Amino acid sequence: MIHMIRDLIAAIALLTGTTAHAETAPMMPVSCGGALAQGGLLVCEGPEGAAFTYGDLTLTAGADGLAVFGLKRNAELETSVGVETPAGMSTSLPITLATRKDDYRVIEGLDCDKVDARTPEQKDHAARSWVKKQDAFASFNPGPGPSTGFVVPSVGRPTSPFGPTRKYIGVSAETGEACESTSVHRGYDLATPIGTPVTAPASGTVVLADPDLYYEGGTVFLDHGHGLVSVFIHLSSIDVEVGDVVERGDLLAKTGNTGRTTGPHLHWAVKWRNPASDSRDGDFYIDPALLLELETGQLLD
Ligand SMILES: [Zn+2]
Repeated sequence: MIHMIRDLIAAIALLTGTTAHAETAPMMPVSCGGALAQGGLLVCEGPEGAAFTYGDLTLTAGADGLAVFGLKRNAELETSVGVETPAGMSTSLPITLATRKDDYRVIEGLDCDKVDARTPEQKDHAARSWVKKQDAFASFNPGPGPSTGFVVPSVGRPTSPFGPTRKYIGVSAETGEACESTSVHRGYDLATPIGTPVTAPASGTVVLADPDLYYEGGTVFLDHGHGLVSVFIHLSSIDVEVGDVVERGDLLAKTGNTGRTTGPHLHWAVKWRNPASDSRDGDFYIDPALLLELETGQLLD
């Protein structure tokens, strides 16, 4: 993870020239870079103990020198990161984010009985699934690192990016009633034949492996460290267990058509969790494709 994040910073700096940087010779320099776009990831590096403040959140770099902030879809485009080092250096690094444009789609053919849990059995299943997810999101793992960036976790045709708002329309098979539901798509979809391997996009620790969550179906959560968790859903089979430590490219599962889905595909999402908070309410999903773009430069060691 350490190497990965440093590589991400270097790659983005090379690609975009947007890394903000302050020399503090002879001390370790401080810098902030990453996937500098709305929905992306802000990665700051400095000496251990350096405090980085983005918005109203301050994160302190640990022994690996990193502070990692998720960037919301509507994050301010022109902003700055305040830095205070243990040696007494104080500075502000300007940050410019790329704008995102998310579209609006209508998806028909929804199985209404999967939109909301209706029967007592469905409600109980959904409630148990929710608790499992919350427990997994509440477990922070330092991440096994090192890795060299994120790669696409399965072979398939991208069918829906992160970010669009979707209005689902359908009919209940049970009652014949029409239904609709509106949500923001918070993952990156790849259409794949059922049984296509799903591999780790970056190294991490498996924190959830469940074959049957109500909405998600077969599900794996992979904690990459620094608050970042990959979520893989609609899986047909799972090849890992909770606690497994995997390297980038290791097999996790096979794609499927389980849970609330309109066809076989992999939904891959990445959630950023605030490591400075015990509450998970302020956590949010970021755009996995922006992490993949980090891979396209001179990333590899
Ligand atoms: Zn999806």
